[in-house]
Amino acid sequence: MPYTLSIGICAHSLVRAGMLQSSVAPYLRAPVENPISGAMLMHKVVIIGSGCAGLTAAIYAARANLSPLVLEGHEPGGQLSLTTHVENFPGFPDGILGPELIENMRKQAQKFGAQFKPGSVSEVDLTSRPFKIKVGNDVYETKSLIVAAGASARLLGLKGEKELIGRGLSTCATCDGYFFRGKPIAVVGGGDSAMEEANFLSRYASRVYLIHRRNEFRASKIMIDRARANEKIEFVTPYVLEEILSPEGLVNGVHLHQTQTGEKREIALDGVFVAIGHNPNSMAFRGKLEMDENGYLIARHGSLTGVPGVFIAGDVQDHRYRQAVTAAGSGCMAAIDAEKFLEEHKD
Ligand code: NAP
Repeated sequence: MPYTLSIGICAHSLVRAGMLQSSVAPYLRAPVENPISGAMLMHKVVIIGSGCAGLTAAIYAARANLSPLVLEGHEPGGQLSLTTHVENFPGFPDGILGPELIENMRKQAQKFGAQFKPGSVSEVDLTSRPFKIKVGNDVYETKSLIVAAGASARLLGLKGEKELIGRGLSTCATCDGYFFRGKPIAVVGGGDSAMEEANFLSRYASRVYLIHRRNEFRASKIMIDRARANEKIEFVTPYVLEEILSPEGLVNGVHLHQTQTGEKREIALDGVFVAIGHNPNSMAFRGKLEMDENGYLIARHGSLTGVPGVFIAGDVQDHRYRQAVTAAGSGCMAAIDAEKFLEEHKD
């Protein structure tokens, strides 16, 4: 039976990056009619993202009678919907399947009146209220906006890689390290995340191979020194991971290529942790909301942004914790902030 993995990265995804074109800007001037309902697309709260943060915001906003509209994005449910067993979400002593947890949250939000719409946001106009959100051919107008668009863990781009998530491949050491007690694993990457994850995973794993494509590291010296001092960690550089071996659908090894000599190497192991960074799904907000140099949105006082009426939650504003439960908590905060904002701006 395949072992199962939990996941902490949540609220993942939902705004497709790089789709903004100035040629569509005039389109945003007027709301259009909803071709399905015929109703004008004006809302009190629109939530961008349907991971833990977005769905929790939807539950709270719906219970506040705000009839939120959730724009689901291209990966409805976020990364939780891509995983198997979740063991670290409070309230489920026997764990719960990620897709089931997401489906439960979605039902809970629908029960109180949240509406869902598939599709990715391609453009937003936050210059004045109501805000305008473009999805496909529709433009939604909303008095308040919650951005819970998530962040996507970068993957290596190898064939079959996505299918191995939850089957020996992970992007979250905190979530999944526990499943690799006494087993050899690899961490791929040369940044602080890779060093941190390698050190963390050495608590559980029998051996940690730190595979990096260069001999130089982006990681800070102190993190590298700590990893080097760890007897369980073996640095494997400069090697590129060419293939993850999984003859029976579970990771059982990796195929490597030495970038200088061309030498091939195979390592038998049970898990691969890809730690090559995350991309926040914040492109649509570039120049419109404050963000750091890595594209993470910056929250002021809880979920507030520099634009009154726009609130942020989940991984799109969190590169530190990235847990399902923290994403859910921040979704709750954003909904409460949106509710208070609407109460104070009844115009
Ligand atoms: P990062 O600093 O961008 O490093 C990413 C690493 O992954 C780099 O070594 C890069 O290799 C490698 N990489 C990227 N794409 C790859 C690919 N396709 N194949 C193989 N390797 C690839 O990302 P991060 O480590 O997640 O850190 C992000 C930020 O968070 C940084 O500012 C970091 O300092 C911070 N952070 C801090 C801490 C801490 O202080 N405790 C912990 C974690 C993260 P190259 O170097 O060859 O490009």
